[in-house]
Amino acid sequence: MHRYSVRFHGLGGQGLKSMLQEMVAPLLMRMGFSVQAFPFFGGERRGAAVIGYLRFGTKPITTHSFIEEPDMVVLFDERIAMEHAVHNLRPGSILLVNSPDARHLVEHYPQFTIFSLNARAISIKNTIGQNDDPFLVINTAMAGAFLRVLEIVANVYAHDHDITAVLEGSLSKKIAENTMAVHEGKDAVMNASGPRPDGSTDPRFGITGPNDRCTKCRLCHLFCPKRAIDVSADDVYTIAGDRCNYCGICVAVCPRDALTLFTNTTGETS
Ligand code: SF4
Ligand code: SF4
Repeated sequence: MHRYSVRFHGLGGQGLKSMLQEMVAPLLMRMGFSVQAFPFFGGERRGAAVIGYLRFGTKPITTHSFIEEPDMVVLFDERIAMEHAVHNLRPGSILLVNSPDARHLVEHYPQFTIFSLNARAISIKNTIGQNDDPFLVINTAMAGAFLRVLEIVANVYAHDHDITAVLEGSLSKKIAENTMAVHEGKDAVMNASGPRPDGSTDPRFGITGPNDRCTKCRLCHLFCPKRAIDVSADDVYTIAGDRCNYCGICVAVCPRDALTLFTNTTGETS
């Protein structure tokens, strides 16, 4: 990977700036990347629009402008105008959104691969944010989700000990709760085109394989957060369509390129 760029959209109070500059950027630097991360504020108050820009890569970063055409957009809040958030996001790019149910976005934006999680619920569960706060802080759950999506789409993996070190260096309170929120955020990420309540699935998305390159190493089975890859007594692998949410983790961890994720609007494999 030469360069990756991400634009974050959030609201004042949700912790976007601290996530970007005190968690994600230091973590990527610990991993050896060149990193550039900066926020832009509409107004420095709770509820006002906040935009964050992140570039990282293996070579020095010499561009210092706002990011107009990101590889990924991370949306902290669906109250932000979607047209504004996905402005100049190219077809095939990634949208990660904090939403209890992002399937409606799949209908409106079939050109993007959309991941979602309920970061608000994770924050409340871990006593980080209050249920009655319209702008509660969700940054550690979003950081975890962002790290998971980086694993899936960019093969960028952060070690747990690096995550812990960064959180301990950046947080002054509720370190255990926020660390839990990061890990729960990672595990909660789902492809928004996953199974619907009636069990039906979006035919544009799916997992195929394992193909004949598979060595039966079981990594996919072990890493699947939905326990959707069954292994029979005679080592036959089956992906359960009613449990799989197309998160792509199995594809990312497979060392043999033996699984394929359908992620485009025509149903062709990529
Ligand atoms: S995409 Fe792979 S890892 Fe994700 S739920 Fe489906 S089978 Fe499991
Ligand atoms: S991770 Fe890949 S090689 Fe290993 S069992 Fe799964 S499909 Fe096969």
